[in-house]
Amino acid sequence: MSNEQSVPVTQVLAEASRRRTFAVISHPDAGKSTLTEALALHARAITSAGAVHAKGGRRGVTSDWMELERERGISVTSAALQFGHREHVMNLVDTPGHADFSEDTYRVLSAVDCAIMLIDAAKGLEEQTRKLFSVCRHRGVPVITFINKWDRRGRDALTLLEDIETHLGITPVPVVWPVGVAGNLRGLVEAADTEQFRRYTKVPAGTHAAIEELLTADEAAEQEGEDWTNALEELELVLSSGPGYDQEAFEAGKITPVFFGAALTNIGVKLLLDAVVDLAPAPAARPLANGGHREVAEEFSGVVFKIQANMDPAHRDRIAFVRVCSGVFERGMNVTRAASGRSLTTKYAHTVFGAERTVVETAYPGDVVGLINAAALRVGDTLFTGRKAEFPPLPAFAPEYFAVARPKDISRSKQFRRGVSQLDEEGVVQVLVSDRRGEQAPVMAAVGPMQFDVVLHRMEHEFSSPIHLDRLSYQLARKTNAEGAEALAKARLTDSEVLTRRSDQALLALFADKWHLNAFQRAKPEIYLEPLIATA
Ligand code: GDP
Repeated sequence: MSNEQSVPVTQVLAEASRRRTFAVISHPDAGKSTLTEALALHARAITSAGAVHAKGGRRGVTSDWMELERERGISVTSAALQFGHREHVMNLVDTPGHADFSEDTYRVLSAVDCAIMLIDAAKGLEEQTRKLFSVCRHRGVPVITFINKWDRRGRDALTLLEDIETHLGITPVPVVWPVGVAGNLRGLVEAADTEQFRRYTKVPAGTHAAIEELLTADEAAEQEGEDWTNALEELELVLSSGPGYDQEAFEAGKITPVFFGAALTNIGVKLLLDAVVDLAPAPAARPLANGGHREVAEEFSGVVFKIQANMDPAHRDRIAFVRVCSGVFERGMNVTRAASGRSLTTKYAHTVFGAERTVVETAYPGDVVGLINAAALRVGDTLFTGRKAEFPPLPAFAPEYFAVARPKDISRSKQFRRGVSQLDEEGVVQVLVSDRRGEQAPVMAAVGPMQFDVVLHRMEHEFSSPIHLDRLSYQLARKTNAEGAEALAKARLTDSEVLTRRSDQALLALFADKWHLNAFQRAKPEIYLEPLIATA
């Protein structure tokens, strides 16, 4: 196939500009799966909205909801869910295994243009949300906040906003405000239009979606009394003390627009969905590793942000998930892998939707394509046609879990080495070698313990080299330079510190905990120690 795109540039630009590619970041149990379903189901309900509303409004929406709910489950395991909303194409990229946190979770954020930070109203900011938020900040991904479970008792809105400001260092700007306290939510008012009140009424068992009614401000004041006036006062207070919504500040990560609602009862979900269309940026030019940018309208380029092995046990295949960054992806086209300069054909291109696979013919910037059995591909790889493109490598995140790997059967050391280097290249774990233990006993470093389970399983089943994985008591890694390494080698390290080399040649010093790190730095202030990309 030639490098000429068969689709005109104007169409590429138009398709790109109606794409919104985003992820939901949250702590387990905050309601990510529920919100994902609500967004997707809502969007589909909206697709048939004409007929639904014409038939007398909410009952139609409700029954649609129920019918769609029977399909529950599809959105939860998919790598990227695509649905339409208001003439836009929404790509909701899953942050995988958020209950079993891993480096994959962070890397996915390199594939999105915006993130929804989902917060449980009763629990406030939780650990994984903070970590994921700091990755967004590091990567310059703008964040929209959704405070969920407002139908249940929780903290008050002002305290939640204060927490965001203090702990995340980003200014929350409410776009909607809850009327009624958490646990007794009456409805929502939009900051931009306080003349209107959206009242929600829970419907009896059988369906979850609440009924929405639009009231005027006068009706709201009359019917909701203090709840309405308090909400307006609070909103006024927050808005007058803050900077107000500003698109540039949002895209620069200085402010986060805030929404309230309840994913379970579909409250506030449509407003959130509208916000993704209206506020989240469309795919834009992407910086290249050697300077310059790849414009959206240039020929095809994409980045591999996730590799999933053995998704189908019967075939033992691997799927490389690629986010399209520029141009048009057409199935069957030959693309070049920037790292090796080799070309590969993309005959087996799919969108992966849970266990279901649909063949992709064409994909535009912002879309996610799964390439099946593209064994040569690695996480972070750039693929392109035409002018060469290579995006900067995905950052390696600060590992917090360490374990030393040894083959169970030393006669299989060849398989052991092959497996370790393959897992290293794929980015399943970071592989570190210390002088103390040598290459035969590499240290596996991970951001979540679940990565070790994957290592154990794949070493045994895929590389036929079952291993022992013994946890080490380190918790922190710091980067150092050659001089630092020399000084460290000379320093009398205790068992609480060790110097290692990562496969990308980075020198990492590991410490048992903050206390040991601080003590070490006080004793040897001349040794250069740089924090890795902080996720805490
Ligand atoms: P995840 O772990 O973040 O994917 O969270 P889930 O979507 O599985 O939700 C965790 C629990 O919170 C489930 O029992 C949900 O039914 C519940 N939940 C989610 N959203 C809401 C909400 O808006 N209101 C209430 N009351 N419960 C919710």
